[in-house]
Amino acid sequence: MGSNYTRSSRISRPLRTKIFDRDGRVCVYCGSCEDLSVDHILPKSLGGGDEEENLVTSCGRCNSMKGAKSAATIIELWAQRRLGENTRG
Ligand SMILES: [Zn+2]
Repeated sequence: MGSNYTRSSRISRPLRTKIFDRDGRVCVYCGSCEDLSVDHILPKSLGGGDEEENLVTSCGRCNSMKGAKSAATIIELWAQRRLGENTRG
């Protein structure tokens, strides 16, 4: 039981399309439009569900970078990086 589905496709396709459309088909973390997937804001391991409110569009890079970090941490990180770019030079 449970061995018949892949780990990466737990989100149904219609729901995924809905999340992509809502987020403008760009990564919410860095704005990239490449290698997009749907990411859980609160990981399922921490009690997060498959509700729209807990799902965001994320590119492969941010998804893999996230790892053990929370989405909030990543958003903060990217925000800081953007601020740094703007104020520097
Ligand atoms: Zn990204």
